[in-house]
Amino acid sequence: AIEFKDVEKRFGKTTVLKDLNFTVAPGERVTLIGPSGSGKTTILRLVMTLEELTGGYIYVDGKPLTHTEKNGKRVELPSKTTRAMTTRIGMVFQQFNLFPNMTVIENIIEAPVHVLGRSKNEAVEEAKSLLEKVGLADKADEHPTRLSGGQQQRVAIARALAMSPEILLLDEVTSALDPELVGDVLEVLRDIAETTDITMLLVTHEMQFAREVSHRVMMFDGGQVLEEGAPDQLFNDPQHERTRSFLSSVQ
Ligand code: ATP
Repeated sequence: AIEFKDVEKRFGKTTVLKDLNFTVAPGERVTLIGPSGSGKTTILRLVMTLEELTGGYIYVDGKPLTHTEKNGKRVELPSKTTRAMTTRIGMVFQQFNLFPNMTVIENIIEAPVHVLGRSKNEAVEEAKSLLEKVGLADKADEHPTRLSGGQQQRVAIARALAMSPEILLLDEVTSALDPELVGDVLEVLRDIAETTDITMLLVTHEMQFAREVSHRVMMFDGGQVLEEGAPDQLFNDPQHERTRSFLSSVQ
């Protein structure tokens, strides 16, 4: 589970998220939608600890991620504790972020070997089966620059899965792709959704995909949850005019 408690995020004087409270249950898949600048990406980056939380708390499986409450005070946790928590969280970015100087398989085994201490042989075997899963078994020894965007994104997904994450964060993973490459990436994600119980928190503009894979959709506006519900309910019967106009702008 991921729990946001009174989460606040400021960049300098700008408050991007305020009084944010919500929980993602274990195995739940939640999609964040909303206009550009509403804070969706920031939420994922906070969970991945790529941004500093300026107020409140995030708990993963009941344990504080970066800050805890002690004697009524907010205390930052040692970075070692936070790092240990994030090994269970995987993230896939809009821009793939593969290591360009490594082959596909080297990209995938890097963290399992160096962070989890897996043997190289074991990590390679696991990486091969993940490459099979994402339809790229024949690309193990290529460099990422020789792959299409869609293929690179599927490698990035395999790389995230190689850490056996309990939580997968997906940040507009198809937004940088040519339209004809989007389908293969979404197919891989559908397969993960159907065959694993990984908790997923995703930001996407692919509303059909969000409808298919999410248990719950949350509409953000101005750093707060405007409304939320099961996909059918939220897409078919939005309660707010802001949601209606947002949905008609993306569908
Ligand atoms: P989009 O759909 O365009 O990605 P979003 O809902 O994901 O939008 P965020 O990327 O989370 O929105 O950004 C929320 C707000 O925070 C924006 O106003 C953005 O300009 C601001 N912001 C994000 N990162 C930083 C930063 N590093 N420094 C200053 N402001 C930032």
